[in-house]
Amino acid sequence: MKNLFLFVFLSIFTLTSCAQGEKTFEEKYNIQFVYSYQPDTWSLVKYDTLSSEEKARFTAFISKCLSKYPEDFFSKINLKYIVLGKDMMFDKDNRAAVPDNYKDQMYFSYRESYEDYYIAHTVFHEMNHYAEFSIWDTYRYNWPAWKALYNGSRKGGETAYADSDVVDYYSIGTGPAGFINLYSTLGEEEDRSDLIAFFMNDLEDEHKQMMEKVKTDIVLQKKMKLLLKMYKEKLGFDSLLVTYTKEMLL
Ligand SMILES: [Zn+2]
Repeated sequence: MKNLFLFVFLSIFTLTSCAQGEKTFEEKYNIQFVYSYQPDTWSLVKYDTLSSEEKARFTAFISKCLSKYPEDFFSKINLKYIVLGKDMMFDKDNRAAVPDNYKDQMYFSYRESYEDYYIAHTVFHEMNHYAEFSIWDTYRYNWPAWKALYNGSRKGGETAYADSDVVDYYSIGTGPAGFINLYSTLGEEEDRSDLIAFFMNDLEDEHKQMMEKVKTDIVLQKKMKLLLKMYKEKLGFDSLLVTYTKEMLL
């Protein structure tokens, strides 16, 4: 009887302390998931709503990706709303993500054909565009220190949509020396966004494969240091540079 009393007491104690101490993902990261239709700044984003099963699965997956960032990261870059939808388009193009800094929101889209590694890559890629806008007030900042290492074009990432069904822009090694792939040559901002995406994405061995390439390319090494220093100094995300420095010594 005494033991039973102790058991009941401990169970109630544990349950209460869990309820008080455990924050939800949204509370911890200070963001809000939104599933209804939200207008975008350019009136070009269209998407369907997720079913309840898709909603649960996609929210869990996006939360897992976002939990790679420090808890105060989203407050730092002024991101308040994570809008989740299905089969999203921006104008006439299918898109897995659209950053909209003017409305403090980031859109992510589920689509049956998207593989997990692709969605994760896109999360980190577009989050870099969002973070850069929060620092420089533009999506296409020409950073003098980056310019010194960059000999690509300024055409913009969207130009790849025209022929990406016949040209491989995205695989590692499709670009010239100093670039991780061909897509990175379309603009300084795409160069930075894709480098950070490969670095942060563990799925399909993206991180491992990109580090193998970086180790053979001195320009990529200079770019990585510059980019990860920006994450440390301007965004308070310093563990990326720590990881990179350690791995370069291996
Ligand atoms: Zn981009």
